[in-house]
Formats: sequence, structure tokens, C-alpha cells
Amino acid sequence: MPKAEKTSDVIEARAEFGLEWLLGGLLALAIGVVLWIYRGQGTLIGLALVLLAGGAGATAYGSFVLIKAKNVPSVDVECPYCQKTNKLTAPPEEGFLCSFCHRRVPVRDGRPLPVFQVRCGYCNELNYYNETTEILICENCNHEIPIAQEEGRPRKHLPRGFVAQEDTCLYELVLVEANPKHEGQIGALQHILALNRNQVKEIMASTPAVLLTGIPRKKAEMLQAQLRVHEARAEIRQIQS
Ligand SMILES: [Zn+2]
Ligand SMILES: [Zn+2]
Repeated sequence: MPKAEKTSDVIEARAEFGLEWLLGGLLALAIGVVLWIYRGQGTLIGLALVLLAGGAGATAYGSFVLIKAKNVPSVDVECPYCQKTNKLTAPPEEGFLCSFCHRRVPVRDGRPLPVFQVRCGYCNELNYYNETTEILICENCNHEIPIAQEEGRPRKHLPRGFVAQEDTCLYELVLVEANPKHEGQIGALQHILALNRNQVKEIMASTPAVLLTGIPRKKAEMLQAQLRVHEARAEIRQIQS
């Protein structure tokens, strides 16, 4: 099975490819025509013919690709978080990022897993989890939210003898690559750090910069992923255990 990609991405890539051939072909045709008009005593006839034939071929091929560009298989996959429909080229085999809410959609057997909502007991922020979630850290206040006792949560089938490794180390999140002009990055960092624009921009201009320290690994990984969505790079470093 081919890897599932966003249908719109594939159409765009194909259209671009077709357009390059089409434009190249038209250019060759135009040069060929000019050479034919000024062919003089026959020295340029050969070159003109080659350009005309090649240009016609490339134009036809480019047009064909463009016409076919929209013929991409499309599977509708509903995002369990925002209920919007993502169009993919094949049923997803692994988790993918929702185009609308940018959350990672959990997938099993080609189907998105249902997600459950739970409110954080400390700050009342709405959080999401699915049946593969091991530990849920509040997106807002970093407190762990107990989910094992939640009603409606399907029982997990852990292999016999499986013991969850409790990671008691603490980590820091270090911003190593950022673009102070990138609105998405500014917004994400403002949200994470609860600082104003100027404070955030100052931090972005002085990488590497420690963003948060003394946080659990899960939390650091989640924030790192949020920043990655906006093409900012952050590293997770272990501090005192
Ligand atoms: Zn979504
Ligand atoms: Zn919370």
C-alpha cells in the first residue's frame, strides 16, 4: 500500500511538474518558430525542427500531466479532534497531522482511533487522549491527569509482564532554531510561555534559549512537536534527576 499523503499536496506537486513541462515545451516551440522564420540558407533548419518536435512533445506531455493531476485517489478521514475531513491518498497506516487543528491523529488498522475528552483537575483545561495514551500531561498546566479510571475508556491490552517505565527525570526545552518573523512561531511561543510578542521575539533572537526547565519528558516532547509544526527547532535536554 502506498504511504498515505495529503491529496492536496500530491495534486499540487503533480500540477507543478506538469506546468514545468508545459512552459518548457512552449518556450522550445517559440524558439523553434523564430529559428524557422529566420532559417536563412538552411543552417538552422535542423535545430528549428528539433526544437519544434521536442517542444510539441513536451507541451503535449505537460498538458496531459496537468489534466491528470486531479486524478489522485482520495480517502476521507475524519479528524477525531476537530471533526473536519482530511483527504488522504490512501487509508493512513500511521498517525498523521490533521490539516485543520494540527493535532496528531492516532491511527490503527487504517482508521483513526476515537479520542476522549477530559478536563484537567487543576486548571480545568480540556485535554484529549486515546486508548494508546499512557500518560496524559495537561496541555496547559503540566499536571498529570489520571485517565485510567475515566469511564468509557476501553481497557488496554498490555502484553503480559509489561511494566510502564516511570521516567522521574526532569528536562529542559531549549529553542535552537527560530525565525523572529514567523507569525506561527511567535503565536506558539506566546502560548507556551505566556509572554508578550516583544518578549517572545527577544527570546527567538537569542537562540539557543532555554524555554522551560524542570518539566517531564512527555511535556517537553509535546511542546517540541508543537514548535516543529511551525518549523521552529527545539531540543530536549535532561537536567538533574
Ligand atoms: Zn483536526
Ligand atoms: Zn491543567
